[in-house]
Amino acid sequence: MQFVLEHTAGNARTGKIFTDHGIFKTPVFMPVGTQGSVKAITQKSLEEIGTEIILSNTYHLYLRPGIEILHQAGGLHRFMSWGHPILTDSGGYQVFSLSDLRDINEEGVQFRSHLDGSLHTFTPESVVDIQRYIGSDITMVLDECTPYPCEKEYASQSNELTLRWAERCRNRFQSSEGLYEHSQALFGVVQGSVYPDIREHSAKVLADMDFNGYAIGGLAVGEPSDQMYEMIEVCNGVLPTNKPRYLMGVGTPENLLEAIERGVDMFDCVLPTRNGRNAQLFSQKGVVNITNAQYKDDFTPVDIECECFTCRNYTRAYIRHLFMVKEILGLQLATHHNLYYYQWLMQNARKAISTGIFENWKREQLNLLHQEIQLTT
Ligand SMILES: [Zn+2]
Repeated sequence: MQFVLEHTAGNARTGKIFTDHGIFKTPVFMPVGTQGSVKAITQKSLEEIGTEIILSNTYHLYLRPGIEILHQAGGLHRFMSWGHPILTDSGGYQVFSLSDLRDINEEGVQFRSHLDGSLHTFTPESVVDIQRYIGSDITMVLDECTPYPCEKEYASQSNELTLRWAERCRNRFQSSEGLYEHSQALFGVVQGSVYPDIREHSAKVLADMDFNGYAIGGLAVGEPSDQMYEMIEVCNGVLPTNKPRYLMGVGTPENLLEAIERGVDMFDCVLPTRNGRNAQLFSQKGVVNITNAQYKDDFTPVDIECECFTCRNYTRAYIRHLFMVKEILGLQLATHHNLYYYQWLMQNARKAISTGIFENWKREQLNLLHQEIQLTT
């Protein structure tokens, strides 16, 4: 994997990441394909809307279909027929958020599956091995994602454990090889809750370990946005400029623009897909709650400015009807539009950075987003 920085505007930057499954442009938004599928959209449609990389979850793939099937299939790319880059998380986040019983110790974390209660253990070494079986282009180290709020003492101890785990992951990664005919990269994960000094320390130690890239984890877990932005600034102030920075699990269109301004290159979030399935459509002028009665005879597109398949062919009234009668097509059209909108936002952010107008463009976008939110609430 290679990262080439292209343009900067303040701390915002554009670049390209080269992998054996192709190039993707940054800042990038990665749709979430939790179980080897981005819900309610085909791989072909993902390509059509300009998706260059997707994310999948190690925890879910490990439980189902399991690494044996993935290995037999020749890795996740082949299994799901996706020829472009894939990033996988380490499974840590799901262990801490989904599974029932967790015993964290120096060795790793023991947990019960949220599906059948069976007992499993993730160690720094095993999550590298699992991601070797998955064959993702970008893999992540095992970390403990601290909850919010979190006592400083706990955040500090937890971060030290995450740093020791990061080193073990890196050692395993360096002493093993990919199982398929492409190379893989490994990212470290900065933790430290909302404490600047712990974040700074975490970023410094990880930077010295020389990962292919760096994720900022443990944010968007309930802390105020301003605190999240402050932590991003602290981390990016320390992380090397010649490596990609990935803000995990974030966020709203506004969060993305604020983080891009602070130098983040990569994002993933379930918002566009999950909210789409819950009848919330993003637009350049804020959120459209499509099941609202006001749309029942509204024969305009979801977003008049949008050029996606959904907006070119269907009206608000029709999509509202699909949701009201629970037709699957409603979920598909909403997902398609929302992901298109996120890709549109990233594409235009890149354009604004490379033409030196990012600051003004961002302000304009935020004004538009806020304006409609006031109108619809
Ligand atoms: Zn659209």
